[in-house]
Amino acid sequence: MAIASSSPRTTTAAVEDYLERISELIETKGYARVVDIAAELKISQASVTTMVQRLDAEGLVNYEKYRGMVLTEAGQKVAARIAHRHALLTNFLRQLGLDETVISRDVEGMEHHVSTETFAALDRLTAHLEASPDLRKSLQAE
Ligand code: ZN
Repeated sequence: MAIASSSPRTTTAAVEDYLERISELIETKGYARVVDIAAELKISQASVTTMVQRLDAEGLVNYEKYRGMVLTEAGQKVAARIAHRHALLTNFLRQLGLDETVISRDVEGMEHHVSTETFAALDRLTAHLEASPDLRKSLQAE
């Protein structure tokens, strides 16, 4: 299972989700343990351990059984890319006046599946929407 750690394009949605959660945990708690990730993703600790070992083998995290894990530079790159996409997509959908519950659910899916090209177009559109209150208003659901 050789995913080139230098090429974030090849990471799967599941891998991106893990790296996103691990990065968030480290940011908020200062560390990420298997038990915390299992609670966040609502899956078993055994499944988390298997995945984290895979991420370790792929050079995305450094995992030590009793000490938790840290993101490698490659892992941080993927996590930062997803965090950036998460923030931009959230902002984009907010411009459309969507409900926060809908936004957070949809963003978690979209962030993994929108191509670089579409993402760049949405980025430009968001900037346009931010600068155009009338356009924004006309697009918002009643
Ligand atoms: Zn996300």
